[in-house]
Amino acid sequence: MSRPIQALIDLSAIEHNLTVVRRHAPRPQVMAVVKADAYGHGLLRAADALKRAEGFAMLEIDAAIQLREAGHRQAILLLEGFFSMEELAWIERYRLSTVIHHREQIEMLSSYKRRSPVDIFVKINTGMHRLGFSLAEIPSVLDALAADFPPHRITLMTHLARADESSGDESVAAQMRSFEAAAGGRRLPCSLANSAAILRCPGTHGDWVRPGIMLYGASPLPGTSAAALDLRPAMTVSSRIIAVQALQGGDGVGYGHAFRADRPMRVGIVAGGYADGYPRHAPTGTPVLVNGRRTRLVGRVSMDMLHVDLSGMEDAGVGSPVTLWGKGLPVDEVARAAGTIAYELLCALAPRMRIVT
Ligand SMILES: *Cc1c(COP(=O)(O)O)cnc(C)c1O
Repeated sequence: MSRPIQALIDLSAIEHNLTVVRRHAPRPQVMAVVKADAYGHGLLRAADALKRAEGFAMLEIDAAIQLREAGHRQAILLLEGFFSMEELAWIERYRLSTVIHHREQIEMLSSYKRRSPVDIFVKINTGMHRLGFSLAEIPSVLDALAADFPPHRITLMTHLARADESSGDESVAAQMRSFEAAAGGRRLPCSLANSAAILRCPGTHGDWVRPGIMLYGASPLPGTSAAALDLRPAMTVSSRIIAVQALQGGDGVGYGHAFRADRPMRVGIVAGGYADGYPRHAPTGTPVLVNGRRTRLVGRVSMDMLHVDLSGMEDAGVGSPVTLWGKGLPVDEVARAAGTIAYELLCALAPRMRIVT
């Protein structure tokens, strides 16, 4: 028997979540975002579950090549584009699609001797102020590209800063106006929507939607649960209790005695810590399931272990099953308790985690 912590990846949940994307955005093609090892779920594994998507998007060129070599024939888009001429050669060789978002990329493109077509996504900064050409630059960028790329090889793209907030509607509308102004009446395909915009902003769906987090079954909308959106959790991190401590009132548990019992109580020691990807900053009170029942984390998370309150759980002991997040305990709730978002917890799954499907 090995250390009992594991992450169960439910591929049917990912497949189901893709159908939820289609329900909200029936017309556009879907560019499934699989960056950061498919948000921690495993690139090739997730891509198999997402094989009905028309494309994949990520940032890491080695991952893009891996996906192509695994036999996926869809569009594979590099969200930050390329960083060198050498990468351009890989893009051509593996028929990848690329974002371009700054002048240097256009210069590299125009000096590269291309033999086969490449699809370009021109990133426009419509207000996120992260990547993209300014509105003023777009006409000259498109003119520069027109020499080498027929219109059907060019998609206009932007990213929305506040699509997840109910108070973000005006911000989304302003970004949409900028996007339309940048397009300047050109009838090019476009791509704007992440998960939040797919769910909240149908006017942004365009020709390609780019769902990420919702495919993995976490909610992109603060205040709305994944279950309410019919999203199913794709990752369940579970473990077991490996020791039980009987505390007296006043006893502290773990490093810094960050939790102290105010009465006699039992505490379960769980195999799972920050070296597995559980957030160290999760405070006492963060929800945990033991034997399928909700209890709380107590004390400071260590590298390999954490402690849970077994008060009122006489049936719990060494070997009792523990869920840290996933089925039965939404990752969004754990993330909120730990002062972060589900994205960070999913992506931070440690390499040492045993994965089962
Ligand atoms: C990560 C990312 C997405 C997906 O965002 P979610 O909120 O996970 O749906 C879409 N577009 C771009 C450019 C991204 O970087």
